[in-house]
Amino acid sequence: MKNINFEKKIKLSNYTTIKVGGFAEYFSKPNTSSEFINLIKWSNLNNQQCRVIGAGSNVLINNVLLKGLTICTKKMRSIKIESHSGIVVADSGVMLPTMSNMLAKNGLQGGEWTVGIPGTVGGALYMNAGSGKLSLAKNLLSVQVIDTKTLEISEIEKKDINFQYRSSPFQQNNLLIISAKLLFEPQGNIKQLLKTTKENLKRKTETQPYDLPSFGSVFKNPTNTYAGKLIEEVGLKGFKIGDAEISTMHGNFIVNNSSANSKDILDLITVIQQKVLQKKGIFLQPEVRMIGFDYP
Ligand SMILES: Cc1cc2nc3c(=O)[nH]c(=O)nc-3n(C[C@H](O)[C@H](O)[C@H](O)COP(=O)(O)OP(=O)(O)OC[C@H]3O[C@@H](n4cnc5c(N)ncnc54)[C@H](O)[C@@H]3O)c2cc1C
Repeated sequence: MKNINFEKKIKLSNYTTIKVGGFAEYFSKPNTSSEFINLIKWSNLNNQQCRVIGAGSNVLINNVLLKGLTICTKKMRSIKIESHSGIVVADSGVMLPTMSNMLAKNGLQGGEWTVGIPGTVGGALYMNAGSGKLSLAKNLLSVQVIDTKTLEISEIEKKDINFQYRSSPFQQNNLLIISAKLLFEPQGNIKQLLKTTKENLKRKTETQPYDLPSFGSVFKNPTNTYAGKLIEEVGLKGFKIGDAEISTMHGNFIVNNSSANSKDILDLITVIQQKVLQKKGIFLQPEVRMIGFDYP
């Protein structure tokens, strides 16, 4: 098979924003969607497990050897922007901050809020990433996917995808996202869009701990309240296990002060869940995806 290029025993902590993770038995960073597809075909034909990460900004990877192939999409950066129609076709590995700035420069409105999310288009659709009432799924027209079992490539329209709060069908099915077709509002005021984008980034970095490794919000917000507020109210801000610490700036962030490992972080997650359940009667559901654990 053409274009099969992978490395062996690669340290995944270098590919996650929290700087934690074990090793990938096989690891590859395809440059194009056709290389991506070929890698998935290779793992299917060779009976190897296959998993995909984007920017690794919402994953906790266990400190173990992950069998099979791990694909990182971050080098799949092709993006086509039609300024007049507002249609954007982006590879799954396109970074949201890059896309956000490109949209503003092309006068396209609706992506200014994504500038502070250090993830990829594929990861954002899988997670249904968002902010307040906004989500990337709102701008979605369709996704191109590959089925890891049948290797069938198809285009799914947004109306056939049941996105819910930080949840998408991709979290349950065998489909991997190759690219996405999105629609933004054309003919916006470029100067104003660039200003809003810059202000949004400033606001994010002033209210969340961007200076330390993290994976963003650890827990989903329960109905009618905020996970960060509950964690603060039970007095856990600043609580540490090893080098993993509940951020003093934002209760729903765990930061890695230097050499935290996956066990420190999982233990911290458990402590938070137990204390919030005990004191507030609410079970906090992790938003972050666990890879390589027997996590329920
Ligand atoms: C400082 C900081 C701020 C953040 N702020 C926000 C925020 O405001 N709102 C928000 O919603 N999130 C936020 N996040 C979380 C995170 O950035 C988003 O969830 C992001 O969309 C994840 O994208 P990723 O490429 O990093 O995905 P990864 O973390 O690499 O992967 C997440 C999941 O998606 C799957 N996946 C990735 N790519 C594909 C693909 N191509 N096909 C199928 N599955 C795939 C992975 O297998 C994994 O299960 C923040 C994170 C950080 C560190």
